[in-house]
Amino acid sequence: MPTTPTHAPLPLPDGQNKVLLHSCCAPCSGEVMEAMLASGVDYTIFFYNPNIHPRKEYDLRKDENIRFAEKSGIPFIDADYDRDNWFARARGMENEPERGIRCTMCFDMRFERTALYAHEHGFPVITSSLGISRWKNMQQINDCGARAAARYPGLAYWDYNWRKGGGSARMIEISKREAFYQQEYCGCAYSLRDTNLHRKATGRAPIRIGVQYYGPAEGDGE
Ligand code: SF4
Repeated sequence: MPTTPTHAPLPLPDGQNKVLLHSCCAPCSGEVMEAMLASGVDYTIFFYNPNIHPRKEYDLRKDENIRFAEKSGIPFIDADYDRDNWFARARGMENEPERGIRCTMCFDMRFERTALYAHEHGFPVITSSLGISRWKNMQQINDCGARAAARYPGLAYWDYNWRKGGGSARMIEISKREAFYQQEYCGCAYSLRDTNLHRKATGRAPIRIGVQYYGPAEGDGE
């Protein structure tokens, strides 16, 4: 959906202006969405995150993203929740640390489906909101995105650094303004387990799903 630009053009690959944006959640994609909207980029959101566990958390994150996409007038593709495949691919990596090989698999899986959809539906560029969080390894994410795009001739992975130019701060501002649901762990069952173990070791109560929302006092939760 082309829009009237109110923002300096973003440097898309190959001079393209049509993008399939993989979104992991509303807080991470809010700034990416607003920057692309203001820059007149024609984009669609692709929500494919079979890593998120349990189902209640998945629905909360997805519904929040749908709400913001509808408010912004952006098309939203709700892809499969094939968590059995995710658990099958994660087998043997249950005890890997965050940013390790389980996360590479997890990013690969999500980008592979994004690239396939882009290829089948005429999107020349894919990108993701995954890298905006300071908790993530941007190079790891970019390697996975580039690997997935390379499967299809003519498909480019856009490795734009959404954190720069104040992007990380605006991510929090938008999350507070929109009072987004605030996840307290990365997403999978193992990150929920490990975050709760850490909380227990530091005297904090376990995560309660569906309770925490961004507001004036909250920071960068996950
Ligand atoms: S910690 Fe996050 S990125 Fe890593 S496997 Fe779990 S959900 Fe995926």
